[in-house]
Amino acid sequence: MCPTEQLYFDDPLCLEFEAEIIETVALPDGHTGAILPRTYFYPTSGGQEHDIGTIGPAQVVDVFKDDDDRIIHSLSLPLTIGRYLARIDRDRRLRHMQHHTAQHVLTGSFVAVLGLETLSANINGYTPSTIDLDAHQISAADLGRVEAYANQILFENRTVKTYYVTDAEAARVPFRKPPAVSGRIRVIEVDGFDYSACGGTHCPQTGMVGLVKILRTERVNQKLRVHFVAGAQALEVFQACHAVVQEITSLLDTGLDGLGEAVRRQQERLKTMEVELEDLRRERLENEARLLAESARPVEKWRLVTALFPNRPPAELRLLAGKLRAFPGLISLLASYDGQKLSLVAACAPDSGLNARLLLEQHLTPLACRGGGDESLAQGGGPVEQAALDRLFSQTEEYIRRL
Ligand SMILES: [Zn+2]
Repeated sequence: MCPTEQLYFDDPLCLEFEAEIIETVALPDGHTGAILPRTYFYPTSGGQEHDIGTIGPAQVVDVFKDDDDRIIHSLSLPLTIGRYLARIDRDRRLRHMQHHTAQHVLTGSFVAVLGLETLSANINGYTPSTIDLDAHQISAADLGRVEAYANQILFENRTVKTYYVTDAEAARVPFRKPPAVSGRIRVIEVDGFDYSACGGTHCPQTGMVGLVKILRTERVNQKLRVHFVAGAQALEVFQACHAVVQEITSLLDTGLDGLGEAVRRQQERLKTMEVELEDLRRERLENEARLLAESARPVEKWRLVTALFPNRPPAELRLLAGKLRAFPGLISLLASYDGQKLSLVAACAPDSGLNARLLLEQHLTPLACRGGGDESLAQGGGPVEQAALDRLFSQTEEYIRRL
């Protein structure tokens, strides 16, 4: 069994060719795997994802190497042995080429500017690619210097050369990192700048990459992972960021330069208003408590307040009840109903001699609801029918007399 000849090595821009299927294999996932003597389809390897495309009427959904270095093309439908027109998805290949070439240039730039080695790389086309550096952290200023350096190399439109060397010749190539393979070594040289042993697909000129942009860094397994985008994806990121910035600057009626200051001003205003709002809420609750206390009706030696509110937050109900507790001899029962759930708070002034928790329980037990609290303040509730609300306070005076 011969290894498949990898035509994409020498011509990564060839995206249409006559594919000769010489053998098919059944794959574990149910797909048919097609084997060709030679192919332009790139198989997943070296941190770069496989190509997709078509062979005849079938979609090529996966491409990988088997243990004999044969390239398997996983097909969406079975094909028989024969010759077919094959097409490789241009957009996906271009993105991989752009990111892979950008990775070499970026990696070389980290060495040139900061003396930092790349330990591993992951090449993507539709999400940011990454390189892992032997570093703890890098300042934003240093990242900016590396990024500027790398883009300068791209703008110089250097030729990306591909050639093969023997082990003996390899000793004379100024590799950034000694090759992990031996025998016939494939060298990717970004003209006079970076020499790597690599089996991926690359742009023939650095200008084809367009742009490389570092997005962020993070610590992963004692290494520093750098997330970056290049080419078509860099344009998409810029377009998305620009659209968001346009929207925000328009909303805040400012330009890009004034954006940070405008957001800071908004945050300060918001903080001031939150403090004012809190003060007003407290004042409103105090007034409400006073009015409720004034409206209390006498029951024996006590005074009683009952009130049912629609949709009032239980926390606010509790605050209000807490304020009512301060009025001598006052007993209050405050309820809120949201159409399904009842919240009830009972408060008894300390000098009343009554127990708020027991008073609450007397109201909730017939409704199959529960609650808890102490002698002066108790809260509870649960789901109840609308009709039950009419009788909620009908026996309150009775309960108080019995306590
Ligand atoms: Zn490469």
